[in-house]
Amino acid sequence: AVDAAILLHTIIDVPGYPRPGIVFKDITPLLADPIALAKVVQAMADPFKGRIDKVAGIEARGFILAPLLAARLGTGFVPLRKAGKLPRATWSENYELEYGQATLEVHRDAFAPEENVLIVDDVLATGGTAAAALRLVERAGAVPSGFTALLDLGLLPGRGVLTGIHAHILHTLA
Ligand code: IMP
Repeated sequence: AVDAAILLHTIIDVPGYPRPGIVFKDITPLLADPIALAKVVQAMADPFKGRIDKVAGIEARGFILAPLLAARLGTGFVPLRKAGKLPRATWSENYELEYGQATLEVHRDAFAPEENVLIVDDVLATGGTAAAALRLVERAGAVPSGFTALLDLGLLPGRGVLTGIHAHILHTLA
């Protein structure tokens, strides 16, 4: 298991970013720390060893962690991108943000049928982004069998969107 102190001491709270009232979790110091980075990659990947065919990362901070996990698990990486970024035919899933809507997309041929996919992001907040990623992987004909992130902010429904899935989040805030 990863030492929560490592996570908490290398993630910086930024009050008022990107808007007043929000406290943003800045993971860039964690990424810059070689010991913390190695420990979180190991802790996020190892519960899924031997169970996963592809690792899918959610744009943008999931793109940093997911390929590191894929390399450790010996799988390929698939990007789940914001709307309009992928060059070939895509599947799309819309989801609600606090203000307005967002879309995640994946290439239609990104997964082989029934592949087991591990979905990766940095932070789970309301769970809306994770839920859209799960639907997108299903839409693409694969199986969203795992989810991992560094932090669960403890909001609702949050982790509730991950029922039935092997979810491994390194730390949950009270
Ligand atoms: P949700 O859809 O409400 O669960 O929000 C999760 C998404 O927003 C993830 O893709 C996160 O990268 C991003 N996010 C929300 N809050 C934070 C934060 O405090 N730090 C970094 N990313 C965040």
